Amino acid sequence: MTTSYALRALTLRKTKLGEADIILTLLSDDGRIVRAVAKGMRKPTSRFAGRLEPASVADLMLAPGRTLEIVSDARSVDLHAGLRTDYDRSTAASVVLDVLDKMAVEGQAEERLFGLACATLSALEHAPIEHLRVTVTAFLLKAMAMHGYRPHLDSCVSCACAAESGAGFSLEAGGVLCPACGGAAPPLSGGSRDMLSWLLASTMDAVSSAELPAREVGETFSLMRQFVTYHLPARLKALEFYANGGGS
Ligand SMILES: [Zn+2]
Repeated sequence: MTTSYALRALTLRKTKLGEADIILTLLSDDGRIVRAVAKGMRKPTSRFAGRLEPASVADLMLAPGRTLEIVSDARSVDLHAGLRTDYDRSTAASVVLDVLDKMAVEGQAEERLFGLACATLSALEHAPIEHLRVTVTAFLLKAMAMHGYRPHLDSCVSCACAAESGAGFSLEAGGVLCPACGGAAPPLSGGSRDMLSWLLASTMDAVSSAELPAREVGETFSLMRQFVTYHLPARLKALEFYANGGGS
C-alpha cells in the first residue's frame, strides 16, 4: 500500500505516453525536478485537462510509482493562462521553462528556483511586451546565480583591479575582466555592467516595470545567453529560438 502525498509544482514540460497518458516534468516548490504520469490526460473528459499545461502551477496529489510518480489529483493555483494566448509571452515563457528543465537536476534541490520561476512567469504574463526581453535576461542572470554561477561584477575576476576603464566579460570565469586581462573576452560596456548589477539586486516586479535603455537590454541579453549556453551542458532550443527573433 503506497501513500499519496501533496506537492505544489510548476509544469515545465509534457511528453506523450501511450494512447492517452502524459508524462509531466515538474519543478516542485522545494526546487526539485519530479516526473509524474497523468493518466488519461489526453482524453477530452480528463479531470486534468487544462490544469497541468506548461507554465501552470498546481497543488497535486502524487502516489509513488516504480519509476514515475502518479498524479491522483490536481487543483489549479495559477494557470498563467495569459502566457499561452500571446505569441511573444509564450516564446519568452518557453525560455524560462526550458532553462529550468535543464538546470534543476533530479534530486538536487535549489528551493529559490521555484519562487523565481513563479515571479518571472507572472511578470512575463502581465508586463508590457517591450519589457519581456529584460525580464528574460534578469531570469537567466538570477537563475545562474542560484545555480552557483553568480557573475562577479565589482572588480576584475582575474587580477582584482577595479576594471574601471573598459572591460570584458569572461564566460568561463563568470565575471568582469579589465583590459589587461581581457584578451578575447566579449566586451562589456559600463552601462551594461551597471544594468547587470541592478538586475541582480532588483525584484522581478521592479525589472519588468522599469523603463530601461534598449541598447543595454540587448547587450545584457546577448551576454547572458552566451553565459548560460557556455555553462549548461544541454542544448537550449527555446533560448536559441527566442534569441534568433522568435519573440520581442
Ligand atoms: Zn585584470
